[in-house]
Amino acid sequence: MDDCLFCKIIEGKIPSSKVYEDEKVYAFRDINPQAPVHVLVVPKAHYSDVKDAAKDQALLGYLFAKCGEIAESEGLKNGFRLITNCGDDACQSVHHMHVHILGGTKLTDKMG
Ligand code: 5GP
Ligand code: ZN
Repeated sequence: MDDCLFCKIIEGKIPSSKVYEDEKVYAFRDINPQAPVHVLVVPKAHYSDVKDAAKDQALLGYLFAKCGEIAESEGLKNGFRLITNCGDDACQSVHHMHVHILGGTKLTDKMG
């Protein structure tokens, strides 16, 4: 996608703080962290949101499994939260499917 911020980050056209990369996924630090650890995990293929990404359910499963591995590599031994915003009511602001990994502190028990 020519006009997608996260596609440009994946391609290296926009700099990012890379945490992990393989042939299917890319992970980088959120520019505006909401917790001591705030990593975004994205599929390299462009899907607009989690509903769109359900076209490749094997990829979705792979991505979520990687989230757990990345959380472990970030030292989140005491737990972490995964969030994927989908659509306007969730305030999705970048329309390239991504999962937020949040951790490194006791998170609020409110999720919305
Ligand atoms: P959303 O609101 O779509 O779930 O999350 C988008 C996230 O992307 C936000 O947490 C925002 O801080 C992050 N973000 C937006 N632009 C950039 C950027 O240029 N670089 C990085 N690393 N994160 C970004
Ligand atoms: Zn994209």
